Amino acid sequence: MKKCDYCGKEISYMEQYCDENCHRKALDFYQLQEKFSKLFSIVNIICVFGIPIGIFISTFAGAIGFTLLSFSVAVEGLIIVILPFPVENMITSMKIKKAVNVTRLIGAGFLILGIVLIILDFIFYL
Ligand SMILES: [Zn+2]
Repeated sequence: MKKCDYCGKEISYMEQYCDENCHRKALDFYQLQEKFSKLFSIVNIICVFGIPIGIFISTFAGAIGFTLLSFSVAVEGLIIVILPFPVENMITSMKIKKAVNVTRLIGAGFLILGIVLIILDFIFYL
């Protein structure tokens, strides 16, 4: 069976979405992705590098390294929650709605971990 590109419900072979609502939500998603994909990539790259660099610095300058690590994890989580852009094969296999939800959940996990690290940072280094 063919499935709606947005919500994943089964639809007939002639359609791409189950209704106008799903079609509109899919377009909204692609527009958001187009508009903010650059911003997302930049923040993503900074955070992805910030995490290992933070770990590396923490081996000789604990406080600075741990702070960099904590904020990188938290900001990475935050940007994923605000702009949940799943990777292409997630969209293909889960369809947009589920892929976005799963991505946002992963982002929330990072954000919570980051906040915990920031709190630990304050407890241990201040
Ligand atoms: Zn649908």
